[in-house]
Amino acid sequence: MAVKKLYFLPVGQCYLDQSAVNRNLTPGHLVEMPVWCFLLETRDGPILIDTGMPDSFVNNPDYYNGTQREGRVVPNMSVSDQIVNVMRRVGYHPEDIQAVISSHLHLDHAGGNGHFPNVPIIVQRAEFDAAMGNDNYSPQECRLSHLNYQIIEGDYELTPGVDIVFTPGHSPGHQSILVTTERSGPVLLTIDVAYTRQNFENGVPFLTFDPNMAAQSINRMQQLIEQLHPSTVFFGHDRQQAKEAVTFPDFL
Ligand SMILES: [Zn+2]
Repeated sequence: MAVKKLYFLPVGQCYLDQSAVNRNLTPGHLVEMPVWCFLLETRDGPILIDTGMPDSFVNNPDYYNGTQREGRVVPNMSVSDQIVNVMRRVGYHPEDIQAVISSHLHLDHAGGNGHFPNVPIIVQRAEFDAAMGNDNYSPQECRLSHLNYQIIEGDYELTPGVDIVFTPGHSPGHQSILVTTERSGPVLLTIDVAYTRQNFENGVPFLTFDPNMAAQSINRMQQLIEQLHPSTVFFGHDRQQAKEAVTFPDFL
């Protein structure tokens, strides 16, 4: 059984030093990274994948000034990029959401998790263990301890048409999502298995927790593509791909 609709929701940008996107480049120049959430309409109700950047980033490009990330991470987030406002545009309140899949607990993926205190938040054990209590990992809003975490280990079918694939490397417990929709068949959301198509197809190294693990996960995704021939393979922060993406209110 397939998912009824998959919406791509753009939720702002984050500027990163180019050496994070391509390890072969020298630091000192910022590149724009589009930030994404995804909403699935399933027979079990709506499921959200990732929650964007934290509210403390709103109109606050200087968030990281005075830290070791100053000049290397510059958020560009407006009020309309806050997950609660994005949900409102789609037609949902946070309490309508049946589950939040947190691909990983980085600043551009888990910032709005705190708006879903009663919703199961699906996260890998390795990610949870790496992030919780680790102030250097991401902003506090991405690592709130009181939420309703549902910890999983490895691959996991959340509901028919929503397959979570364990793809560590970029972060210790990163997960990707294979969504099968009525309209488009299999759609592979690699999330940050690869920031860009270049990372994915040409092996261009990028910011990873473990480069070998990251390469293995890319390999696994490539095998999945050969098996399933997804109609779309979507990368985490590819600017070119973002320009061509089918976004809300259209859907896959
Ligand atoms: Zn990311």
